[in-house]
Amino acid sequence: MARRRPDAGEPLSVWSEKDMLGGKAVDALVIILRSRGCCWSRKSGCLMCGYNRDSLGSVTPNDLVAQFEKAMAKHAGQPYIKIYTSGSFLDPGEIEPETRAAILKIAGEKAGKVLVESRPEFVSRPVLEDMLGAVNELEVAVGLETADDGIRARSINKGFLFSNYERACSTAADMGASIRTYLLLKPPYLTERGSIDDALVSIERAGKMSQSISVNPMNVQRGTVVEGLWKRNLYRPPWLWSLAEVLERGSGLTNARLMSAPSGGGSKRGTHNCGKCDDAILKAIEAFSLEGDSAIFKGLGCGCRDRWLDYLDAEPFMGSAGDLGRLAAPK
Ligand code: SF4
Ligand SMILES: [Zn+2]
Repeated sequence: MARRRPDAGEPLSVWSEKDMLGGKAVDALVIILRSRGCCWSRKSGCLMCGYNRDSLGSVTPNDLVAQFEKAMAKHAGQPYIKIYTSGSFLDPGEIEPETRAAILKIAGEKAGKVLVESRPEFVSRPVLEDMLGAVNELEVAVGLETADDGIRARSINKGFLFSNYERACSTAADMGASIRTYLLLKPPYLTERGSIDDALVSIERAGKMSQSISVNPMNVQRGTVVEGLWKRNLYRPPWLWSLAEVLERGSGLTNARLMSAPSGGGSKRGTHNCGKCDDAILKAIEAFSLEGDSAIFKGLGCGCRDRWLDYLDAEPFMGSAGDLGRLAAPK
């Protein structure tokens, strides 16, 4: 079936979800704009990212404002608005400064807090100064993925260093904007145990510079290097047990708010367990993300927990970061 031509005047997606504001759970409006796409994706691209499929080269500044106005028709008083572009809202090559200002003016008039996402190289004093003139409270989300420069280069191909992220965080702190850091649980070529350890170290290091940290377990996206590995059984998205362990142990390592909203959770392409316990664990993760109480993970159990523990033990002997369950299955 032919893919429908995307409409340059329509936002990619708009929905409402819970988030925290001033220590209270509130409704947040999430808006994903269809932009010209991520500059890094055009140059090289991250191994797990399929967002370039959502971008459209012909999108104009007027289209972007029209998309945002359409999305805002769904605004029902939410005090928090999150704006994503499948790239960097702060990249002037993706969103012109005048367009950015027009969008933020509308958002700032309707909500007390606005979140936008950007690669760290676009976070600068003049840009933040402009933005803070339009909105009351500003949060900049940065996809650090891991605090380890080697893993970020080899397993993600992210194209920036921890020092670039540190600079962006300190600029934001100086200007009075907060930072939300995204970490990726289980980049390719890491074992399950290795990915848990990497996420915990990353939480500790990034937590010193972030007000909130969102742990994103891998979701296998179409047309990516990770999908190629996954199709050949050389990659398994992280177990939900691994994500629960990272959140439980990670909450003791940072004062930043720790959370996770797994996309594709419970599916084959997303973080999953045996299928029977997935919903209960996803619910616990959702509650933890709002309330911050890691005791919620204590009561969880399922027969597959032992299989997960065996999996962690078996990986070093197998000498593989592949999907041991599928590699060992009879053909
Ligand atoms: S993950 Fe972010 S930085 Fe990497 S290619 Fe995708 S949109 Fe660009
Ligand atoms: Zn289970």
